[in-house]
Amino acid sequence: MAGERILVVDDRDENIDFIVEYVLKPNGYQAITARDGEEGLRKALTMDPDLILLDLQMPRMTGIEVLESLKEHGKNIPVILMTFHGSEELAVRVFRLGVKNYIIKPFEIEEMLEAIEQALTEDRLRKERDQLTERLILVNRQLEQRVKELNTLYGIGRSVTSLLDVDLLLNRVIEAAVYITGAEEGWLLLVDEKTEELYMRAALGFDEKSARSFRLKVQDSLAGNVIKTGTPLLIGGGKHKIKTAYLVKALLMVPLKVGQRTIGVLSVTRRASDEVFTNNELYLLSALADYAAIAIENARLFQETETEHKKLQAILSRTADAVIVTDEDTRIILFNQAAKNAFCPDSEVTPGQSLADVVHNRDLLELFSQATGGGPPLRTEIPIPGDRTLYATLSTIEGVGHVAVMQDITHLKKLDEMKSEFVSTVSHDLRSPLTTIKGFVDLMGVVGPLNEQQQDFVQRIQKGVVTITELISDLLDIGRIEAEVNLNMEKCAFDEIIHQSVDVLRNQAESKGQTLTVNLPPHLPPIWGNPLRLRQVVDNLVNNAIKYTPEGGKITVWVEGYDSQIALHVRDTGIGIPLADQPYIFDKFYRVRSEETEDITGTGLGLAIVKSIVEKHNGRVWVESEPGRGSTFTVLLPVYKDGEPARKQKTSA
Ligand code: ADP
Repeated sequence: MAGERILVVDDRDENIDFIVEYVLKPNGYQAITARDGEEGLRKALTMDPDLILLDLQMPRMTGIEVLESLKEHGKNIPVILMTFHGSEELAVRVFRLGVKNYIIKPFEIEEMLEAIEQALTEDRLRKERDQLTERLILVNRQLEQRVKELNTLYGIGRSVTSLLDVDLLLNRVIEAAVYITGAEEGWLLLVDEKTEELYMRAALGFDEKSARSFRLKVQDSLAGNVIKTGTPLLIGGGKHKIKTAYLVKALLMVPLKVGQRTIGVLSVTRRASDEVFTNNELYLLSALADYAAIAIENARLFQETETEHKKLQAILSRTADAVIVTDEDTRIILFNQAAKNAFCPDSEVTPGQSLADVVHNRDLLELFSQATGGGPPLRTEIPIPGDRTLYATLSTIEGVGHVAVMQDITHLKKLDEMKSEFVSTVSHDLRSPLTTIKGFVDLMGVVGPLNEQQQDFVQRIQKGVVTITELISDLLDIGRIEAEVNLNMEKCAFDEIIHQSVDVLRNQAESKGQTLTVNLPPHLPPIWGNPLRLRQVVDNLVNNAIKYTPEGGKITVWVEGYDSQIALHVRDTGIGIPLADQPYIFDKFYRVRSEETEDITGTGLGLAIVKSIVEKHNGRVWVESEPGRGSTFTVLLPVYKDGEPARKQKTSA
């Protein structure tokens, strides 16, 4: 690459001319000339040539002196020395002064050209190498900076998950923010939602007193703007007011976000230097702000959980119900005071102990031993000393274990007994006079002839007595069923119950000219229930079917057996039930009012009794019906499961 500027310093004109005319110009180099050392030095210093061809012996200032002076000035221009034979020993000295080459006078054109090209190439390479080294150093420095930043972020990230002390963590965030952005001050402001102000949660470069009293209105402040927009703010150059008498030259603010909410601002500032913060610093500060937001949110959630935990602890320990929570291996997790009073008033209970080591009540231990992974809760009565009874509900909580909540139902049991007594007394006391009325009314026609009007009156009294008797017996029934905590359950054959019911009601159907068909599968699985109550279910449904189906209609009773359930269907071709009434027919005293039902007597309690009994058996009942075409009632009951007798006293709901 020619075109370089070459300074030729020689005191002999013919030498200069020779070099300029025969070596430099023909090869495209630009020549600068100097006739002595002084001129050469001046031109070298002011014109910055790419190469110097320097004569060694010159008047006033020798080549060596020129070299020394160049060195003193810190000039690093490549030099080719031109010398005569016999001065080689000088060469050693001059090489120390940075000379690249020397050439012995007189020289050939080619020889000089070669030396020039070599020196220029070397210099070019040296410059390129220097540039590369410089770039490398720069990249290295940037890398070191990145490593420093990432290490800081990493450290803060780890602290977020390991530090429970949020104050300490936020102080670290501020320190890191100031450190990696090279700022002078850093602060973290949070929104006080009550006052709509920003207060200082952590700071560096502030004295504690002003940090504590620092308050800013969200409205009309730079930080408030960041809160409102949720976007960062980067400003520099000039002075910016943060608050009265608090001016900064460069400022970087990033929002602290929890989900969509901005809860505060993390900021770094420069008050003395006005060096503007960079985009990279903005990115780093945003990462730190995310950490701070996570830490604050974690602390809030932790606080909330703690408060809830304490509340729950307080409720559980003070509640009158006994509560026992165990893990899946029946090791105690929680045992409240009421449970202690009931089962082990004199011993200490510590979490982790096995329930069997603490409690010796067989019913309670048996209840826990029957706890299964899922399914409905188990319920049972647990007698405890002092003639008291607890009603326990044991549920499984996935991932925790089992929880038993026990209510003292001693007084309810007493009330229940009193109620049963009352019910049987009342039923007897009400029924007896009714039987008397019925008896005498029936006799009226026997003891003497009655005129037509008297006969009509007697019939009305008879009808009334039947209605009252039914009503009393239904009322007593529903009262009893609802009051019974536990039905006396046993393994029962549902098909037998259905046959018994249908056999009794067949006459009634036949007297209305109806056909009553029963279809039962050959091997119906047994069910776990109370046979008398189940009989009542079938009776009520078949009885209604007969009652609400006109003469000549068809009634079909059939059963389908599934793996764990049995479905009983009672279908009739009767008057049906309007859609609007269907949701209410299982309510107490609800009766469909229509022309067709006008003359049909009833209490409106039959289906309420059915529903109550079915639910006590953990079953379901529903109707499908179309007015004028008929109705189908379906009862779904769970089949008997192995092990059920072991729970003789227990039901699950
Ligand atoms: P009731 O003593 O009135 O029969 P229920 O509780 O047994 O009382 O039935 C409630 C109402 O549901 C009845 O009044 C009747 O209107 C309607 N109902 C019950 N079963 C049938 C049926 N098989 N066909 C049509 N309507 C029925």
